[in-house]
Amino acid sequence: MKIKNLFAILLALTLLICTFVMPVGAKNTTNVNENVEIIITGEVSIETKAKIERYFATGEPEIDNGASTYGLTCTLLGHKTESSIVCTITHKVRTTAPRCVERTYSYEACTRCDYETSTLISTEYIVCCS
Ligand SMILES: [Zn+2]
Ligand SMILES: [Zn+2]
Repeated sequence: MKIKNLFAILLALTLLICTFVMPVGAKNTTNVNENVEIIITGEVSIETKAKIERYFATGEPEIDNGASTYGLTCTLLGHKTESSIVCTITHKVRTTAPRCVERTYSYEACTRCDYETSTLISTEYIVCCS
């Protein structure tokens, strides 16, 4: 019960950060292509940041083709993961306002192998581009 409440608070905070603080903070905003922006919340390594940018290059997770390989260490000991909350903003997906869509994901990647996974938390159309 308590953990659930905590998660709800964290989620609400994250959504607030993504929606309002982002233009001011802007430290982890990356334009991966002309219509997609990614906001990474939380401390991740440069390697994981690069993985996130590739993974969400279209604003949605890349389809897993099942080709990822787990290293021997991970098979034996389990993954060494880094996790983050990732917001993606895909601009101009609709012709009428609100035109842009913001998706929030929880993302987890292993720092030793190709393992990565994400869960969609929310999808929201936002007033952004005219
Ligand atoms: Zn691993
Ligand atoms: Zn926009």
